[in-house]
Amino acid sequence: MKFGGTSVADMERIRRVARLVAAEVERGHQVAVVVSAMAGKTNEMVAWTDTAGRAAAGLPESDDEYDVVVASGEQVTAGLLAMVLRNMGLNARSWLGWQIPILTDDAHGKARIEDIPPDALLAAMGRGEIAVIAGFQGRTPEGRITTLGRGGSDTSAVAIAAAVQAIRCDIYTDVDGVYTTDPRIESRARRLARISYEEMLEMASLGAKVLQTRSVELAMSQRVPVRVLSSFIEPGEASVDTGTIVCDEEEIMEKRIVSGVAFSRDEAKVTLFGLPDTPGVSSKIFSCLAEANVNVDMIVQSKARTADHANMAFTVGRRDADRALELMRAAQADIGFEDVEVDADVAKVSVVGVGMRSHAGVAQSMFKALAEKGVNIQVISTSEIKISVLIDAAYTELAVRALHAAYGLDQL
Ligand code: ADP
Ligand code: ASP
Ligand code: MG
Repeated sequence: MKFGGTSVADMERIRRVARLVAAEVERGHQVAVVVSAMAGKTNEMVAWTDTAGRAAAGLPESDDEYDVVVASGEQVTAGLLAMVLRNMGLNARSWLGWQIPILTDDAHGKARIEDIPPDALLAAMGRGEIAVIAGFQGRTPEGRITTLGRGGSDTSAVAIAAAVQAIRCDIYTDVDGVYTTDPRIESRARRLARISYEEMLEMASLGAKVLQTRSVELAMSQRVPVRVLSSFIEPGEASVDTGTIVCDEEEIMEKRIVSGVAFSRDEAKVTLFGLPDTPGVSSKIFSCLAEANVNVDMIVQSKARTADHANMAFTVGRRDADRALELMRAAQADIGFEDVEVDADVAKVSVVGVGMRSHAGVAQSMFKALAEKGVNIQVISTSEIKISVLIDAAYTELAVRALHAAYGLDQL
């Protein structure tokens, strides 16, 4: 069972969580619980690390002391939940990442879990102890604290579930499942009873933050059945129809062409004008970005009006926009383009569905729906099960709603 920040936001909610845990224990299950920090706490701590001069001092982005600070929110909620469970007469103890241990690489701030030796946890659970685990945190083989990237408690939960071979990983959150799109943007969004790992992976990586992308990757590779459900249900109320099951495609009866619409405002577009249209130019541009660890997503190149020249546009994460611009300016003479421009007022809107593999015309419906609303498409990219477009950020909600309706996802 994993509980996110809003679910453990104060003592009353922590007591509510404890009752949900107790109900599972009463059903005869051995339970491991993963908790996030109280809502807002991680943001607060991230801001403190900025004030402490992390960015200003030009410290490397992979900062081990950053992790020491931001991992602390989960320590508080794990201890508090274990206390409340004990006060209810249950046998419980807290576990910090290093105590289990949750072993990660040393990419501080976005570490990846490499191994979770399950012996200590299994022994404790075998003795009838409820394991209350601090999410989001791990440790390097050298013993330094790491964190798993924002939203990382989801990944802690799936990784623990895989390590102890759990029958299921229940992700309790502030919505009652995975919806066809973010219910905060479109009130007509529908809860999906089931979604395939692949679709969930696309939805998450294209902006639906209900599950951290890495947690879905892990669930898919380790075949962990995941259920997303609300922490505001009554103890004992959860049934087979509660929430959303993330599972294999074969286990889904209902066939849909498009399952969901995702969006991300965390984008910036870099345009290079007047590039020499010769072999090796793209290689120069992207190796320069790759060396600086700047991830590139969408890319388009087109012929410029002047002979032997091309224009190119690509997208990077919004926080990398300034860096990308600096890198391009520094390499301008070497690459040989005439001008560079960055636009951070862009958003990526995507439709996702395994049904696209076998249906023609899915992209056309997308472009038509956007055209009808007067939304201009700047860049398009597709894969087997998704189509993404880059648009002016001001039209994000309009575009999401138009696509939601166009693919028949609106609640009736
Ligand atoms: P937690 O703190 O429990 O980890 P998050 O805030 O990380 O919760 O994730 C839950 C939020 O994800 C919801 O409140 C919702 O606004 C957002 N969300 C975005 N896309 C979707 C979607 N397709 N289905 C459900 N929720 C979504
Ligand atoms: N507390 C961490 C965050 O806010 C991890 C999580 O909630 O999943 O990113
Ligand atoms: Mg989350």
